[in-house]
Amino acid sequence: MTTLRIKDVFKRYPNGAEAVKGVSVEVGDGELVVFVGPSGCGKSTLLRMVAGLEDITSGEIELSGRVVNDLEPAERNIAMVFQNYALYPHMTVRQNLAYGLKNRGTSKSEIDSKVDAAGKLLQISDFLDRKPSQLSGGQRQRVAMGRAIVRDPAIFLFDEPLSNLDAKLRNQMRLEIKNLQRRLKTAAVYVTHDQVEAMTLADRIVVLNHGLIEQVGTPAEVYSRP
Ligand code: ADP
Ligand code: ADP
Repeated sequence: MTTLRIKDVFKRYPNGAEAVKGVSVEVGDGELVVFVGPSGCGKSTLLRMVAGLEDITSGEIELSGRVVNDLEPAERNIAMVFQNYALYPHMTVRQNLAYGLKNRGTSKSEIDSKVDAAGKLLQISDFLDRKPSQLSGGQRQRVAMGRAIVRDPAIFLFDEPLSNLDAKLRNQMRLEIKNLQRRLKTAAVYVTHDQVEAMTLADRIVVLNHGLIEQVGTPAEVYSRP
């Protein structure tokens, strides 16, 4: 089965900038696809269109077999992870993890069990009562992952999630993300300008340039070429 189908998608911003010029990509169930390319190639725009944060000028986006062009982000069964974590500073880690679920009307006992499970999975169980300001960068990134995980999304959307971390932590978190994604078997799109990141994470890489796909393939296929 295919989790995500991007069909002939174009994006023209109101100022006339053509950010995406006819892109078609499929992401299979459980697959991790990395969109890679230089700054301005259109990778964030593409991801934001999948998330519903940006209108599609033309083309079609399908999630789990359903066209989502006209659906709000909250109706899309996606979860995003950003570099700035987007955590609520005044809430504890537990409250941050529970927040979205409360809005959905999930029962207290279900919220508690999901938050505890995510805490264990991400090794942040000891920090659930702290505020984000009392956490290290890596721990904050784990909480951001936890917020995505408790949603049980059809797909994770990562937008340069590690670019605020130092090189050592970035390598570590990259492995953690890969292991987590394998374990959960949830499809994922991961956007980065970093080829090493693309190579170590991806099942498949989509190389974008000037709003077009330049290459698609496994890391070995994409980076073994002369
Ligand atoms: P990337 O994520 O690969 O750096 P983006 O998707 O952010 O690329 O941007 C692709 C192109 O679209 C760039 O030329 C950028 O300047 C332009 N762009 C991005 N966001 C907007 C916007 N809100 N309005 C106008 N142009 C934009
Ligand atoms: P809901 O559970 O109804 O989606 P939330 O408060 O969780 O309500 O989310 C509000 C909006 O923010 C929605 O558009 C939702 O898709 C988005 N959102 C919240 N958290 C995340 C996340 N981790 N990843 C992606 N989107 C999120």
